[in-house]
Amino acid sequence: GVAEVHWRRVLLKLSGEAFAGGEPLGIDPETLATIARQIAEVSRTGIEVAIVVGGGNMFRGHLLAERGVDRARADYMGMLCTVINCLALQDALEREGVVTRVQTAIAMGQVAEPYLPLRAIRHLEKGRVVIFGAGLGAPFFSTDTTAAQRALEIKAQAVLKATKVDGVYDTDPTTNPHAVRFDALVYGEVLSRGLKVMDATAISLCMDNRLPIVVFDLLTEGNILRAVRGEKIGTLVSV
Ligand code: UDP
Repeated sequence: GVAEVHWRRVLLKLSGEAFAGGEPLGIDPETLATIARQIAEVSRTGIEVAIVVGGGNMFRGHLLAERGVDRARADYMGMLCTVINCLALQDALEREGVVTRVQTAIAMGQVAEPYLPLRAIRHLEKGRVVIFGAGLGAPFFSTDTTAAQRALEIKAQAVLKATKVDGVYDTDPTTNPHAVRFDALVYGEVLSRGLKVMDATAISLCMDNRLPIVVFDLLTEGNILRAVRGEKIGTLVSV
């Protein structure tokens, strides 16, 4: 029940990569259904869930820019990709019986509400899952930074950063079998050691506002609920 939970309102960050399943690009419906089931499970316990969705399964601005596209335009392309992911997630969640609202930082009235923080909070209070798309609506930022900013503005108590690996390691665990996982880290260590948790802008924002981050593996079913309950999964980044 809600009494035993650690956090009553959380901001879940889903990378675009998570939507692709095993594929390099696109959206894998089965993977999406698995993610939606987990989110539905959390929402049904009465925990308020807001979500920031990435776009890395389609375009990342800086990668397009490396190939000659104007950086700001490339970033807008990336932001639009996040909206496609938002609609896919909305669809998967509604099929699980979860009432959702998508809010975008770039206005597109036919597909989503504009980003309105007070209205987002009202949705959450009514038990709806709110999905934030189009990042911050500004180039040169990431959806990780968006996650930190949105979490702060809607007064979420933690950022849950769902990834493919089960926490933060000292070196890349996919290439180094001796990589060591951290149970807990302080923000400063993440920055000074250059650990790949979130980009430095996002980490700084969390650090300045003492917003905890939990990095954990999304594809183990039930993990989102475990993270919300404060169970020791993944890596906790805090003061
Ligand atoms: N983006 C942006 N401003 C924002 C958020 C995102 O310009 O506030 C662009 C940026 O080009 C980024 C892309 O959208 O590469 C997709 O977001 P991100 O790379 O953070 O997605 P993820 O890695 O989480 O899938």
